[in-house]
Amino acid sequence: MVASPGVAVGEACQLRRLEPEVRETGADINTETAALERARAAVRARLERAAHAPAAAGHEAAREIAAAHLELLEDPELLSGAHSLLSQGKSAGFAWRSPLRAAADTLRQLPDPRLRERADDLTDLESQVLLALAGGAGTGGPALPAHAIVIAQELLPSQLVALDASRIAGIALAAGGATSHVAIIAAAKGIPTLVALGPSVLAVPDGTPVVLDAGRGLLEIAPAPERLARARAAVAALAASRVGELAAAQHECRTADGIRIEVLANIGSLAEVDAAVKNGAEGCGLLRTEFLFLDRQSPPSEAEQSAAYAAIAAALGSRPLTIRTLDAGGDKPIAYLPLPPEENPALGLRGVRTGLAYPQLLRTQLRAVLALGERSRCRLLLPMITDTSDLLAVRAVLDEVRRELGGADIKVGVMIETPASALLAESLAEAADFLSIGTNDLTQYTLAMDRGHPQLAARLDALHPAVLRLIARTAAAARARGRHCAVCGGLASEPLAAPLLVGLGVNELSAVPAVIPRLKARIGAVAMAECREIARQALQADSAAAVRELLVRELARTGVIP
Ligand code: PEP
Ligand code: MG
Repeated sequence: MVASPGVAVGEACQLRRLEPEVRETGADINTETAALERARAAVRARLERAAHAPAAAGHEAAREIAAAHLELLEDPELLSGAHSLLSQGKSAGFAWRSPLRAAADTLRQLPDPRLRERADDLTDLESQVLLALAGGAGTGGPALPAHAIVIAQELLPSQLVALDASRIAGIALAAGGATSHVAIIAAAKGIPTLVALGPSVLAVPDGTPVVLDAGRGLLEIAPAPERLARARAAVAALAASRVGELAAAQHECRTADGIRIEVLANIGSLAEVDAAVKNGAEGCGLLRTEFLFLDRQSPPSEAEQSAAYAAIAAALGSRPLTIRTLDAGGDKPIAYLPLPPEENPALGLRGVRTGLAYPQLLRTQLRAVLALGERSRCRLLLPMITDTSDLLAVRAVLDEVRRELGGADIKVGVMIETPASALLAESLAEAADFLSIGTNDLTQYTLAMDRGHPQLAARLDALHPAVLRLIARTAAAARARGRHCAVCGGLASEPLAAPLLVGLGVNELSAVPAVIPRLKARIGAVAMAECREIARQALQADSAAAVRELLVRELARTGVIP
C-alpha cells in the first residue's frame, strides 16, 4: 500500500527498534523520580529543538509532530499515573511505561484509524524516554548505507527523524498505515514509502538490492541486473525532472492540448500553506477543519475559528480556499460532544450528520466562515453527504446565519464520499455549487472495507473499477449541470492516476502539496483524447490491479513515464 509515491533503488537495511530492559522495582522514590525527571528533561530539550527548528521544505511535518510529542510529555494524566507508580516503589522506567502503554492500548481499540495511529505517538514517547533513561537518547539513529531502503515492522516518527534522510532512498514497512505520522513525514520529505507489506519483508537480508516502486505498490527483491539498471536510470531521470517540474509548477495547469485542469492542495493547518504555495498549489481544495476541534475540552469559539480561517486565507493570497465543515463523529473523543457510543461509527453520526445533530456547532462554524466576507475567495464544502436533504438542511442554517450577519454569499459544495451521493450526483449537482469526490471514504463504502483495516489495506484501492464508475458518473452529472467536479481524496495525490481522473471528466485535483509539481507535469504531458481513452479502458477493467497495470502500460507507451 502506497504511503508516499515515487520509485527508489537501493539496498535493504533492516531496522529493529531498541527496547531497553525495564525493571519493575525501583531503588528508592527520590532516586527514581530524579531519574525520570532527568530523562524527560533530555527528551524535552531534544523535542523543543525539533519543534522550533528553522522552517525548511519537508521539516514542517516533523516540527508539528515534535510539538505534539512535547504536549504528550507534559500530559497531566500520564504524569499523575507515573508518579503514583513511583510512590508505590516502582522504577522510573516502569512508572513511565505503564500509563503510556495503557493509554496507547485504549486508543488502539478505537475504530477511527487516525486515532488508532495516535497510539504510535505514545509508543514513540515511551521509547524516547526509556532510551533516555538507559542513557541512549540523542545519539541519533543507526548508520545507514547510501541509498538505504529502510525495512521495519513499524517505524516511529522519532526514529525516522533521527535517521540521516539523505541516505534513505525508500521505506518499506511490514505494518503501518498510509495516514500515519511516519507516512506524513516521509511524504513531506519526498521519500517513496510502502506500508502494510506483511511480515515477509522482515526476512529480506541486509544489503539485498531492492527496487521500491510506490507507483505500482511493489517491492522487488533482488531483481535481475537489467531491471536494476533500468530502475536506476528511471530514478535518476525522475530526480532530474523534479527540478524542472518544481519551476514549471508555478504556472497554471493544462493538458497537452490546452484544457485547463486546476491543481489545488489539501491542507490540515496554517503550517502547511507555505509548502502548498511553494509547490505550485493554485489554492486549497480541502481544508480539514478538524485540527481546530480535536484535543480540547470545549469547541473553538467563532472568533478563534474566524481568526484561524482568515490567517489561512491571507497566506493563500488571491488563491481560493475551500473550507470543509467539521468532519468528526461518534467515534472521535470530542469531550464536549456527548455522542452516544455507536456500534459502527463509520456508519454513524459523522460528517455533516454531526453538525445537523448539534446545530449550534454548525452555526458557529458557518458564522466564522461567513465573517471572512466575499473578498476572501472562500467556499464551503460539506462532508459525508447522502442526498440533497443534507445539503438543504445546511443551506437553511446558512440562510439564517447570512440574514444575521447581513449580505455575504458563499458557494457551497458537497463531498461525494458515499455510493448514495455518487448515484444521486445529478440532483446534488443541481442543488450544490460544486462537487468534490472524497475517494478515501468513497472507496471504503463502495468496497465495504474499513479504510484503516491492516489486513484489507492492500485491497483498499481507489482504482477499483467500481469506484471509477462512481467517479465517472459524478463527473458526468457535474458537467451536465455546468458544475465544477473535483477529487480531493487520496487518489488525486497519485500522479499515475491523474490522466485517468482527467479522462473521467474531473476538472480539479486537490492533493498533498509535495506531489503537485509531478501532477501538473503528468497532466501537461497528455492530451485529452489520450486521457479519455485511458478512462474508457479503465472503466471496462475487472479489478484495481488491472487498472494499475493499464495505467503503467499506457503511460509508458506514450512516453509519459519511463
Ligand atoms: C476522503 O474521504 O477522501 C476525504 C478527502 O476526506 P477524509 O480523508 O478527511 O475523510
Ligand atoms: Mg472523507
